[in-house]
This record gives sequence, C-alpha cells and structure tokens, in this order.
Amino acid sequence: MEKENSKIKEETVKIETCYLCNHEFNINKKDSSHYHYGKYPICDSCSESYAFFKS
Ligand SMILES: [Zn+2]
Repeated sequence: MEKENSKIKEETVKIETCYLCNHEFNINKKDSSHYHYGKYPICDSCSESYAFFKS
C-alpha cells in the first residue's frame, strides 16, 4: 500500500481578509474567527479584542 494518499483530511482552508484589520486569516480555523452578521470576516485577534462582535 502506498502512504501518499493516506493523510488526506477534510480540512478546508478558507482565507479571508479581516473586516477590521485587513489581516488575512483562515476563517475555518477553530478559533474565535467568524463572520460578523454572517457576512463580515473577523479574525481571531479582533474577535478577542472586540468580544461584543460575537453574537
Ligand atoms: Zn482582524
């Protein structure tokens, strides 16, 4: 058996540009990054700084 294809994960990287700081980040990473109002990408550090954005 070849090992080449055995490490494929369903891990999707989606790069977005933060609405607040213009920093590029992976929105699919499991951190505080999220879409504000389901529309504006907010990175992890901005989400932590502006906790009120989360809801
Ligand atoms: Zn940001």
